[in-house]
Amino acid sequence: MIEKSRELAETRARSFKLRIRMQNAAKGQNPRIFVISSIQKCGQDNQILGLGQGDAFWATRVPGFPLPAPEESPFLFGGPAAYSSHFHGKVMAVITFDSDEPDSVVQESISVLSENENLRVPHIIGLQLDSVSGHYRSVGQGKLMDRAVAGVLTRQYSEPLEIDEGVLVVLCSDSRLLPPMTSKGAPMTIRTLGGFIPSYDESLPETMNLDDFLTRWLEQDSSEKRIVAMAHGNPDADAAACGAAKASLDSSEIADSFLRSIVEQIGDDAMRADSSHETTAHSRAIAIAKATRRNLGTYPAISAITKKRILLSEVVQLAYMDTVTGILTPY
Ligand SMILES: [Zn+2]
Repeated sequence: MIEKSRELAETRARSFKLRIRMQNAAKGQNPRIFVISSIQKCGQDNQILGLGQGDAFWATRVPGFPLPAPEESPFLFGGPAAYSSHFHGKVMAVITFDSDEPDSVVQESISVLSENENLRVPHIIGLQLDSVSGHYRSVGQGKLMDRAVAGVLTRQYSEPLEIDEGVLVVLCSDSRLLPPMTSKGAPMTIRTLGGFIPSYDESLPETMNLDDFLTRWLEQDSSEKRIVAMAHGNPDADAAACGAAKASLDSSEIADSFLRSIVEQIGDDAMRADSSHETTAHSRAIAIAKATRRNLGTYPAISAITKKRILLSEVVQLAYMDTVTGILTPY
């Protein structure tokens, strides 16, 4: 994955268009689209939808389950959904479904999203993969205008790479980050605010669904599967630091109370996971990745493996992604 990230960075540097995107990424982000993908397909969705660096703020959902209501899924709705409301000019929210997901999952998820107050977008678009053509088609009871917008989005189709189901990446929702590639293709990807995963909570459907996903994933060849928790930033550009990490250093200024409570929890867990208590955005981003690793250890699916004498630090590895170039370094 590290080698691939260097190769891709060289390709980016050779292209005029991609160089401009990197220059903009060093200054900040202002995505126009908020996308919720399934964990399984997230690594591919940017390719299928033709979305490049800076285009979309990302979140993920557990495939096969309808989107839980906001109070049952605070780390999605109080996290990336609420955070993305602060970008000016954001025009749509997109939720994608795999071809084998039942209609009930599709309809319920779209209605949960439409009724949510944190999103504040003119268009909410549901897209489901067609198993024959491999293209997305518009689904749900969307307004005529929404379907027209969906048509424009799905026309940008480009052929996706294979999915590497041996690797699961946890990455910040930041629009400037594209999922890294492995030697086999696009890894499965979880995208959350700051790349933070909360600890397992039996009363929270959001974490129970994730545990269900992890259990199914780890059912076979668990010793060969790896999770990579990623921190991100850039040593030369303060504006390229992780926004969630920065916000968690001082959350008192956040006006949205739902978002503030999530950012506070991220900050608390980060401090517990990293005893050095440094106060730069860089060190906080790494502390959040450590918190994610520690919290993943509380999921029954993961603790079942770590009980078999595989270390948590082996199952969940840490890496650092440069926000601007996408280059990875192990941590
Ligand atoms: Zn970030």
